[in-house]
Amino acid sequence: MRASSAISARDAVGRLPGIGPKRAAALTAEEIATVEDLLWTLPFRWEDRRAFSRVAELEPDAPEATLDLRVVRSRLIRTRRRGLTLFRAVLRDASGEIEALWWNQPYLARVLTEGRRLVAYGAATAPRTGSGLVLENPDYEILDDAEDARASIHTGRIVPVYRRAAGLGSRALRALMRRTFDLLDGDSLPEILPPALADGLPGTSRAAVLEAVHFPPEGAPFERVSDRRTPEVRALALEEMFVLQVALAGRRRTSAGVRPRPPIRVDREALARLEGSLPFRLTAAQRRVLDEIASDLGSERPMARLLQGDVGSGKTVVALLALVTATGGGRQGALMAPTEVLAEQHHRTITARLREAGLDLEATLLTGSLRGAERDRRLRALARGDARIAVGTHALFDGSVAFRDLALVVIDEQHRFGVAQRLALARKGAVPDVLVMTATPIPRTLAMTLYGDLDVSAIDEAPPGRPAIRTVVRAEEDRERVLEGLRRELEAGRQAFVVVPRVEEDDRAELRAVEAHAAELRRGLRGRRVGVLHGRMRPRDKDAAMTGFASGSIDVLVATTVVEVGIDVPNATVMIVEHAERFGLAQLHQLRGRVGRGSARSYCVLMVGSERAGRTARDRLSTLERSADGFEIAERDLALRGPGAVLGTRQHGLADARLLAVALREPGLVEAARSAACALDAAGIARVLRDVREGWRRRLALGRAG
Ligand code: ADP
Ligand code: MG
Repeated sequence: MRASSAISARDAVGRLPGIGPKRAAALTAEEIATVEDLLWTLPFRWEDRRAFSRVAELEPDAPEATLDLRVVRSRLIRTRRRGLTLFRAVLRDASGEIEALWWNQPYLARVLTEGRRLVAYGAATAPRTGSGLVLENPDYEILDDAEDARASIHTGRIVPVYRRAAGLGSRALRALMRRTFDLLDGDSLPEILPPALADGLPGTSRAAVLEAVHFPPEGAPFERVSDRRTPEVRALALEEMFVLQVALAGRRRTSAGVRPRPPIRVDREALARLEGSLPFRLTAAQRRVLDEIASDLGSERPMARLLQGDVGSGKTVVALLALVTATGGGRQGALMAPTEVLAEQHHRTITARLREAGLDLEATLLTGSLRGAERDRRLRALARGDARIAVGTHALFDGSVAFRDLALVVIDEQHRFGVAQRLALARKGAVPDVLVMTATPIPRTLAMTLYGDLDVSAIDEAPPGRPAIRTVVRAEEDRERVLEGLRRELEAGRQAFVVVPRVEEDDRAELRAVEAHAAELRRGLRGRRVGVLHGRMRPRDKDAAMTGFASGSIDVLVATTVVEVGIDVPNATVMIVEHAERFGLAQLHQLRGRVGRGSARSYCVLMVGSERAGRTARDRLSTLERSADGFEIAERDLALRGPGAVLGTRQHGLADARLLAVALREPGLVEAARSAACALDAAGIARVLRDVREGWRRRLALGRAG
C-alpha cells in the first residue's frame, strides 16, 4: 500500500496531492520543478513554539506564546468596509480566557466552532478599548481532543517559516512539506557527497537530513537551529558547495581539455602604440595583469580569467589594451557592460583612445535601445568582421547578433552576471576567451566559490596621485551644513553626485524620489543646474544627462544607483548618498569611487535618518569613514550582512544564499568541497551532475535529467 503511493524525489511537484497543474506550473517557474526541489526550499527562519504558556501568565507585548486552548464562543463579523471580515473567538484554558481576532479569514467560522480544541501561537496585546488581552491573527492548529499537542505541525514544536513561493504562504508550505515527507520514498534521494567528505556528517539518509532541517527534532537546541549550526544544515551547505565545485570542475575540464584553440596572435605593436599614446603610464599592477592576459591569449588554452581591482584602479584601460592585443590579427573582441549608461561611456572612452593612438580600429556600440537601419548596419559590420571591437550590454549576445571571428570577450562588473549565467553561457559553447572584471573585492573563499573556474589577476595598486576621499556620516539634523559644504565645492567649479536608493520593484516611486530630491536641491542651490538620471528615463535622455554631467553643463547629478558602476567624471568631487543605511558597505565603497578620480580633494557624505534612528547604521557606516581598502570593507560587509546581501541574490546559483553563509563560516569547508570535486575524473563529474536536482540543472543549464 505504502510503496505504491510513495512519491519519488524525482517526481514532478504536480504529483503531490493538493498540487494541481496550475500550482505545479507556478512552482516550476520558480525553479521548484520536482519533489526534491521542493524539499530544498528551506525555511528562512524557525520559531520555537514548544513551551506552552497559560492564559493567566500572558502579559501585553511580551514575545509570542504557545497556548493550548478551547473555543468558548465565536462569531464572524462583516465590517462596514466591503470585503473586510473579522472573526472573533473567545478562547480558554484552565487558567482563564482570552480573545482572538482573525482578519479576512471567514472560513474560520466553520472550523473554530464552540468546544473545538486548538493550539495557538501569537503575541498578546492590550486592546485599544476594554480590558483583558487579545491575540491578533495568531497562527493556530486544530487538534483532536486526545491528540498530543506536541505532534502538531504549526504549533507546539520548532516550526519552520518559509518565504512565499508560487502563491503559497508559510503555513501552506509547511503543511505541504509535511505531507511530502510523509509520502516520500527516502531511497529516491541519491547520495551526492563522496566518502571523502563524509566526516562530521549526520550519518542518516539525505531524506532524514532534509526532514530534520525543515522540522527539527523535539529536543533540538533552538539557538543552534536558528543560527543554522546543526549538523544537518552543515550537510546541506557542504553538498551545495560540492555540487557547485563539480560544476566548475566540469567547466574547467571543458575549457581546458575539449576546446583547445590555436593561440591568438598577440599584436604587440598595436599594444605598444596604444600604450604610448596614453596620457599616463600604466601602474606596475596594470602591466603585470596585461602580461598575464597576453600569455593566456598566446597559449592554446582559452583564457578564463577574473580581473579584480578596486574602483578607480584602472581596469578599463586594461580591458582596452587586451582587446587591442587580441584583435590586432584581424579578429574581433567585445566588451560587455552591465548598463547602457556604462556601455556608452566605455564606447566614448575607447573611441577617443583609439583615435589618439592613430590605430586603424573603431569601436561599435550595440545596446538594446538601438533600433532600425543603424542597428542593421552595425550588425552587418559585426557579421562581416569589419567591426572589430564591439561595446555593448548583454544585447551583444542575444540571438540576432553574429560575430565573424570573435576572439575575446571582456565582461565588466561581472558580479551582476553571476556564476550560474557564466556556466550556462559556456555550455552553449558561445564563449571564446573571457576576461571578467569586477570591482567588488571578493574574499578568497568566496572567490573560489563564485569564480572557481577562473584564473585570478588583481590590480592591487591605485594610479599615483589619488587624494584620499574624506568620508563622513551625517544625520538629517546636519543637512544644512552638508548643503553649505556642497555650495562651497560648486562655487569652486566642482561637480557633485547625489544618490538616492532604488525603490525595490517600484520604479515609479523611484522616479518620484529622484525628481523630488532634485527639486529640493534646485531650491537649496539656487542658480545651479541639477540634472537627474534614473532607470525610467529614455536612453536618449539618459545619455543627455550623462554627457551634460561629463561636459560640465550639469553641476549636480541626482541619480539612483545607475551611477554605481563605472561612471568616470574627474571634476566631480562630492558624492552624497541619501539613506546610506539602506546600502551595503561594498556598494557604498563603489559609489564613493565615483569621486576622487581627479587630483582635487573629494568628499563622500553618507546621509542617515535622524541621529537616534541612525545609531546602528552609523556604527556600520563608520567602517567607511575609517577604511579605503575595498577588501577590508567587503570582508566586513560579508561578516555583517552575509554573502546574499553582499552579492545580490541568485548569482551564486545556490538554492539558498544562506547556505553559502554557512559554508563560508567553517574554515576549510569550501576548500574540502573543492578538492573532493577536483579529485573526480570525467565519469565521476558526469555522475554527480546527472544526480543533481532539477532546480540546479536549470540554473546551471545542464540540460534535463532522465
Ligand atoms: P575602474 O577600475 O574603476 O574601472 P577606470 O578604468 O575607470 O577604473 O579608471 C579610473 C580613472 O583612472 C580613469 O580616469 C582612468 O583614465 C585613470 N587611469 C587609469 N589608469 C591610470 C594610470 N596608470 N595612471 C593614471 N590614471 C589612470
Ligand atoms: Mg570600471
